[in-house]
Amino acid sequence: MNKNSNYRQVYLDHSATTPVDERVLNEMLPYFSDKFGNANSIHGFGSEAALAVDTARRKIAKLIDAKHTEIYFTSGGTEADNWALKGVAFARRDRGKHIITSSIEHAAIMASCKQLEAQGYELTYLSVNEKGLVSPAELKKALRSDTILVSVMLANNEVGTVQPVKELCEITHEAGVLFHTDAVQAMGSIPVSVKDLGVDMLTFSAHKFYGPKGVGALYIKGGVKPDKFVVGGHQERTMRGGTTNVPCVAGMAKALELAVENLDENAKHIKSLRDYFVSEVEKKIPHVIYNGDREKRLPQNANFSFEFIEGESLLLNLDLCGIACSSGSACSSGSLEPSHVLLAMGLKHETAHGSIRFTFGKGNTKEDVDYTVEKLIEIVGKLRAISPLFAEFKEGIINV
Ligand code: PLP
Repeated sequence: MNKNSNYRQVYLDHSATTPVDERVLNEMLPYFSDKFGNANSIHGFGSEAALAVDTARRKIAKLIDAKHTEIYFTSGGTEADNWALKGVAFARRDRGKHIITSSIEHAAIMASCKQLEAQGYELTYLSVNEKGLVSPAELKKALRSDTILVSVMLANNEVGTVQPVKELCEITHEAGVLFHTDAVQAMGSIPVSVKDLGVDMLTFSAHKFYGPKGVGALYIKGGVKPDKFVVGGHQERTMRGGTTNVPCVAGMAKALELAVENLDENAKHIKSLRDYFVSEVEKKIPHVIYNGDREKRLPQNANFSFEFIEGESLLLNLDLCGIACSSGSACSSGSLEPSHVLLAMGLKHETAHGSIRFTFGKGNTKEDVDYTVEKLIEIVGKLRAISPLFAEFKEGIINV
């Protein structure tokens, strides 16, 4: 740990994960020890656990305007996304093999689509504009008589853009097609009502709203019948096998309850910090691009491209100063490809490579922002001083 008196730890990666709220932890603890029963056992220990699962299911359903019979617990967002896509693709293969999604989805959707393509399904990837928004008119044109599913995320994990899901869903339903949305980043940050959105399926994950990791859910509207995805048990009304993660399910319900109860207050605090950060960066650091839509955006997200430098170098230098954020590229997965989201928005490869995502949370303060801006100015200056691209720019050899 750096002993510099100026040093502080600043966590600005809340879209990657959030710390578990202490009240959520307290809700979970009894189900690890005293109330450890298997929710499927018929004895008293089992009934106690089953009651906790049922209570959590009803609580979550109410918070998103669903029925409790429409909530299916999963191991997280990735599983729920896989289930939604493959479950509908397999169940409806006799009606058609065409699926529509967007070009900026999370890897859980993208990789599922690639698997389906390899199995003979046809995918259409809707483009986005320079702000990262899908066009309802393009969706209308893409729908075909053999389309069986449309999946467009509610909010993007890299640039925070909030899609017009309600409108996209209406267009999809007019064509008699099912609509799924990945609401992993949106849940707990903006209001989410399945009734208001009108969606047939919706994915969410507890660790993005101060709940535990490894638990999420798929909302499946009554009457919609995707194929089973995880088999081998009678849990989740026989639709998803596997012993229920009782502590995490109880924790997720508590986390969502707190997130919804305090949504306005938290969003106001987080948005004011984010807006202050954005204005400071734009004022004090030249040659930066603020990626995404300024209005149709999650309150926590700020994504910047810093011209002439590598996002990874910036990220590592910020980490040495105690600041945790995330780079847009898929470097962590062993690929040097820049973010597919930023490329889909039309950014040049070099610019996309210099992109960093800062995501704020309820525990952040103005001092965190001031410290981060101060360090950013120092590090960006240092990295540009050794950047061949910046040297070429100053000599007029290249333009931004
Ligand atoms: N979908 C989106 C938009 C995400 O941001 C994430 C996680 O970052 C996931 C799905 C995957 O969720 P989980 O981490 O619960 O598997």
